[in-house]
Amino acid sequence: MIIKTRFAPSPTGNLHFGNIRTALYSWLYAKKNNGIFVLRIEDTDQKRSKDIYSKNIFDTLKWLKLNWNEGPFFQSKKIKYYQEIILYMLKKGLAYKCYCNNETLLRMKNEKILKQEKPRYDGRCRNLDKNFNSLNKYVVRFKNPITGIVSFNDMIRGEIKFNNSELDDLIIQRENGIPTYNFCVVIDDVDSKITHVIRGEDHINNTPRQINILRSLQANVPSYAHLSMVMNNNKINFSKRDNSIKILTYKKLGYLPEAILNYILRLGWSHGNQEIFSIKDMIHLFNLKSITKSSSIFDLNKLLWINKYYMNISHKKYIKKMIVYYFKKNNLDYKLGPDLDKIIPNFLPHVYTIKNLFNSILYFYIKDNKISYPDCINNYLNFDTLKILKIVYKKILILKDWNLNVILNIIKNISLRLKILLKEIIIPIRLALIGKTHSIGINQIMYFLGKEKSLFRIKKFIKYIEISL
Ligand code: GLU
Ligand code: ZN
Repeated sequence: MIIKTRFAPSPTGNLHFGNIRTALYSWLYAKKNNGIFVLRIEDTDQKRSKDIYSKNIFDTLKWLKLNWNEGPFFQSKKIKYYQEIILYMLKKGLAYKCYCNNETLLRMKNEKILKQEKPRYDGRCRNLDKNFNSLNKYVVRFKNPITGIVSFNDMIRGEIKFNNSELDDLIIQRENGIPTYNFCVVIDDVDSKITHVIRGEDHINNTPRQINILRSLQANVPSYAHLSMVMNNNKINFSKRDNSIKILTYKKLGYLPEAILNYILRLGWSHGNQEIFSIKDMIHLFNLKSITKSSSIFDLNKLLWINKYYMNISHKKYIKKMIVYYFKKNNLDYKLGPDLDKIIPNFLPHVYTIKNLFNSILYFYIKDNKISYPDCINNYLNFDTLKILKIVYKKILILKDWNLNVILNIIKNISLRLKILLKEIIIPIRLALIGKTHSIGINQIMYFLGKEKSLFRIKKFIKYIEISL
């Protein structure tokens, strides 16, 4: 048997960590079993489905390299086909037309509530003559079995059972002729010969209904695995409308796809205490049994940690390519500053994302007069700072050699001479050179910036202090 899994998002919002976890687990399960991964776009809800969200689905999967082997199939292109099957089911007595209008349904509901029963449709149109024809509007309902139990063995949760008496006759075609979600899922899973359905636990209640439809059509019932939800820090389920968890936002923020996948894998699946998994490891080790039944909480710090790890083990050329992209996007020429190949390794241990890295090296490449000072600058607009900077300027001006040690010695000597702490010298220099109070070693900054630019920026700050005093 060829294992076939599918990812079947509805294009009603941007893909988030929860969605991609479903995609990743389905993809991994197919890969691990030399199977086939199918992509299906469930866009029968015409009002809520949007092309930009379909594009978001493709872009996200492509960025993460979760390639699909079949599809994308669009449900919206198959409406006629679904309708033909519904006609067949009507003919065979597997489904029936329900002419109840909203008023009738509401009355039925209220009566049931009064009797303290579940407000279900009572099946009153079920036994209308098949040939009964009315000009009134109707929906088509599936004839769900009235008695017995429908059960399935969830690959994560074990056996799950429902009494048929609790399931009402599901609408499979709306008044406007459009088939409903549960029906299309069933038909598509059959058509694509899906063997394993891996999806969110919000679909557990749909599963018995879908199984009943499958059985009525004498189709094979796939195996099911329902994943628990992913929640944000406030323990609220992720929503497709929340941009802070949109995966492609993390691309913009400079996260690596490898890190995102690794983080998502661990969001609900484990292999001992192992945290880092290459794609090869993932495919090799993945199984459905080790997926947790409890919900998972999104942890940004952990994601940052994993991203930093991947940035540090990645090929430097790969990181450089991404940084160059940031330069282009910001209309900056990286050739106007120090060699990226030399800069990047110095900064990598101190940053968590590519954007972080870009922001921490940016000041080497912008024009000297574009350096702006932060608010805390006011604490340094005094005669002491002025004196320090003037000495630093003079010492650097006469320097012949330009290397890390020489620069550091100058600063140390000034601190000894003036009998002040090193940091009292370093912070004003940093402010002058890069407009920040924190960064990597001051000698490294000065070294990479070069003598001429360092002098220019110190002089600019000296003038700034003089004007303010
Ligand atoms: N379209 C459904 C969703 O986005 C998934 C349906 C399924 O996986 O069966 O939640
Ligand atoms: Zn009815």
